[in-house]
Amino acid sequence: MNRDPYLSVVIPVFNEEENIGQLVSRCLKACQELDKPFEIILVDDGSKDRSPELLVEEARRNSGKVLVVFLNKNYGQHAAIMAGFAEARGEIVVTLDADLQNPPEEIPKLVTKSEEGFDVVGTIRTPRQDSLFRRMSSFMINKAAQKATGVMMNDYGCMLRAYRRHIVQAMLACPERSTFIPVLANSFAKHTTEIEVSHAGRSAGQSKYGLWRLINLNFDLLTSMTTFPIRLLSVIGGIISILGIGFGVFLLAMRLIYGPQWAVEGVFTLFAILFVIIGTQFLALGLLGEYIGRIYHDVRARHRYFVERVLGKSTTEHQ
Ligand code: UDP
Ligand code: MG
Repeated sequence: MNRDPYLSVVIPVFNEEENIGQLVSRCLKACQELDKPFEIILVDDGSKDRSPELLVEEARRNSGKVLVVFLNKNYGQHAAIMAGFAEARGEIVVTLDADLQNPPEEIPKLVTKSEEGFDVVGTIRTPRQDSLFRRMSSFMINKAAQKATGVMMNDYGCMLRAYRRHIVQAMLACPERSTFIPVLANSFAKHTTEIEVSHAGRSAGQSKYGLWRLINLNFDLLTSMTTFPIRLLSVIGGIISILGIGFGVFLLAMRLIYGPQWAVEGVFTLFAILFVIIGTQFLALGLLGEYIGRIYHDVRARHRYFVERVLGKSTTEHQ
């Protein structure tokens, strides 16, 4: 049998028949440069084109180096990467897109950087070859992710990344369904860095993310990070109630001063009451949301904390 690989490259594949040949050969070449045992794990995310056959072919031709994981249907990029992580045995795990937008030739650079002692090595795409809409939505997501995780990374969207073994292990121990891997990884990382890599247009085929899938992905990202939107609901409710009560008091005072004619025979009063009721409803919704948010937190069962290592214990299995 082979030695345990030092480097695992995990690549999700979804209808990428035009890219697989070049992808595998370029990855193999880049990994061989490192002169360390490696494995390339391709995860077929329920492709409907000829990708599965091509992958079988690649695995046969490069046995021991190329591993293929087949999922029964399409679960999405991040789930597919998780499936790849579960198979990965390397000390350093690199993720990569199958469409060759991130050149595999950058893998050695990532590994070297990771060896300098970084738990997560991210990448910044320069110059980025995507549409303006994609770049703008990325910009907003990056800002939100920076705030929520407290880790200042400039480009959360780029999947060309390197993770150390313990970070991958920690991610695998998370049972939640909707994951956004770069954010999840950063929540366990201590030392992170980013390097610049080149970015190409998609080599062939179409982007798998239409508008709808992008929106869904962003919801995954948002809900996996914060319960802030729920808080917002309570805050809006509070403001509406306070305005309503203020309006009511104001009306009462004016009514007393100027008499019933001024208040259009009670119509304004009705409005004030309505405001208060709507505000209370929002508040109640927000409160419900807070409980649901807590249930969500507990159901995800994330580690309360993450122990990197323990020093000075006398009975350790490995020093
Ligand atoms: N992908 C996947 N499952 C999906 C969608 C995408 O495994 O449901 C893979 C796809 O094959 C590619 C990577 O995720 O390797 C990124 O997809 P794509 O290039 O379409 O995204 P974009 O570059 O437009 O963000
Ligand atoms: Mg792409």
